[in-house]
Formats: sequence, structure tokens, C-alpha cells
Amino acid sequence: MKKCIFCGQESQDSAQYCSFCGKPFIKKNKWYHSNTSLIIGFLIGGPAILPMILSNPKFSKKKKIVLSTIVVVLTIIIVKVLISVYNKIYSIYDKSYEDLLKTLN
Ligand SMILES: [Zn+2]
Repeated sequence: MKKCIFCGQESQDSAQYCSFCGKPFIKKNKWYHSNTSLIIGFLIGGPAILPMILSNPKFSKKKKIVLSTIVVVLTIIIVKVLISVYNKIYSIYDKSYEDLLKTLN
């Protein structure tokens, strides 16, 4: 017997749909298919979560394309911001180093 996650009634193990409420029996989602782990995964691994999106049975094909595009675009934006921040920090250090040289001379 398996328990319906919608109404809590038990049905035959072979049943595809709940015999009480008629809802389909969905296999439990894997942890890496939850929205929370997708967001955390993106924050840590960026585009590395693309396989997680593409293998997610919850998402339709259209949603997968949209989400993949968002991930790629966000990754590009983050990389660009990081590069400009790095350049700014680098130019500040570069300038102070030049100033230091001037005062020494
Ligand atoms: Zn049910």
C-alpha cells in the first residue's frame, strides 16, 4: 500500500492514481530538484546547476529553456560585475603604488 500525498488515503502499490481523490502518484522529488537547492546551487556553483534544471521532471521543456537562459545570463552579468570590481580595486592599488613611488623620489 502507498499513501496519497494529497488526501492521505492508501491505495494499491500498483495504482497510478489515488483511488480516493484521483490525483496521480508522483515519485518523491529528489533533493536537488527542489527550488531551494536550485537557488543555493546557483549561488555556489553558478552554471553548474544547469544539469539539475534539465533533469528536473517538475519543469516543462519551455520552463527549462527559460531557466537555463536566466542562469546563463545571470552568470554573464555576475562575471562582468566581478571583472569590473576587480579592475576598480586593481586601479586603486595601482594608483596608490604610483603615489608611493612619487613620495619616495
Ligand atoms: Zn488521494
